[in-house]
Amino acid sequence: MFDSITGSIRGIVNKIRHQDDVTSLSRAISELKKAFLKADVHHKTTKELLNAIEIGTKNIGIGQDNFIKVLKEELTKTLTANGNQGFVFSSTPPTVVLMTGLQGSGKTTTTGKLANYLKTRKKKVLVAACDLQRLAAVEQLKQIAASIEVDIYFDEGEKNPIKIAFAAKEKAIKEHYDVLLIDTAGRLAIDEELMEQLKDIKNAINPNEIFYVADSLTGHDATKTATTFKEKIGIDGVILSKYDGDTKGGVALSIASQVEVPLRFIGIGEKMPDLEVFIPDRIVSRLLGLGDIDGLAEKTSAIIDEKKAKEVTKKIKKGEFNFNDFLEQLQMMSKLGSLKSIIGMIPGLSSMAPALKDMDFENSKEIIRIKALISSMTSKERENPDLLNPSRKKRISLGSGLSEVQVNKILKQFKNASKMAKQLSSKGGMKGLQNMLS
Ligand code: GDP
Repeated sequence: MFDSITGSIRGIVNKIRHQDDVTSLSRAISELKKAFLKADVHHKTTKELLNAIEIGTKNIGIGQDNFIKVLKEELTKTLTANGNQGFVFSSTPPTVVLMTGLQGSGKTTTTGKLANYLKTRKKKVLVAACDLQRLAAVEQLKQIAASIEVDIYFDEGEKNPIKIAFAAKEKAIKEHYDVLLIDTAGRLAIDEELMEQLKDIKNAINPNEIFYVADSLTGHDATKTATTFKEKIGIDGVILSKYDGDTKGGVALSIASQVEVPLRFIGIGEKMPDLEVFIPDRIVSRLLGLGDIDGLAEKTSAIIDEKKAKEVTKKIKKGEFNFNDFLEQLQMMSKLGSLKSIIGMIPGLSSMAPALKDMDFENSKEIIRIKALISSMTSKERENPDLLNPSRKKRISLGSGLSEVQVNKILKQFKNASKMAKQLSSKGGMKGLQNMLS
């Protein structure tokens, strides 16, 4: 996400050598300037930030720790624009949100991600397909809605998006939805017709909030278009999409300080769970390579069912962990989103194991094989893998397309792993492990 800034910070901090060495501070500031500009931070933002960092550090005494402290404070301040954070519900439901943005910015995907985010927080969500501009946008939203099991309102016979938005709102009110998210049309570039249409929808349905989805990969253009949307239709928040692919990361600083609209969420992957609330001090912590354990805990707590987790632990202890439990755990992991989105949350991990960032857990060869094998097993076999005699294994091999050698290998690995898990979770676990390894 911020590879370019994070990668340079350590070196910059190291430039500050002695207490109260003004020259070393100036050198660090000038390196920081290069790093910010290279990371696409707007030149005005860069200037303001550097001034504040220099003065702030001098005020509390030049030194590496003080420099980091001021850097952290000033970056956080810059990322904190006045306004709401995350998703804010209106006092009377439904909360109606208009999703706007240019074509290809990730608007439809983000509408789905936001619906998914709200659904995992037990909200009743309706999405409305009002992007009649891009061919297949309605179909895309239908597929997304089905995959996350969220209701959708669409009307393929209707050509007027204002009427669709209005009808969707009526449905949301009548059927007591908590939230209505309206996916609107984009254009390849800003044009008056688009702005007029958005204004008309805004006037017709009076949304609680208007979100602008900005593509981080468009760098400085993202700041410019967000400013135009703010001036023409008024926006209450920006969602930065594709932040995972943006190695520069400076666009967040530019938008917050130049557009003066709060960043509300960031998109950090193509999958539905890959959306995070934008919390400035946590982002700064990651930007400085310090990790974000709070963010990680929050992400997992929304997904992990504590009761279920306790049941599974019990089963492991008894040596009853079976393929059904295994599959369920795999599905839970996929709800966490891309591995890449988690790496930066663990302090030091992204620099210690950079290869992890490119790993696609769900689509890896090994996981695909294991899933194929499990789906060819009967539910009794999944419950009790000991039932698997040679003829059953042969059937599974044919059904899954894996060779018998591959089937045997996975089954053996699973058996060893559950044995080891049982030993480790029972009393004297380490001793058990030693026995197994000796
Ligand atoms: P729209 O025209 O604005 O509705 O754009 P789409 O929602 O169709 O998104 C365009 C492309 O961007 C799709 O391939 C999405 O999968 C991809 N995309 C959207 N958000 C993200 C994100 O946060 N990260 C990544 N890597 N891809 C994204």
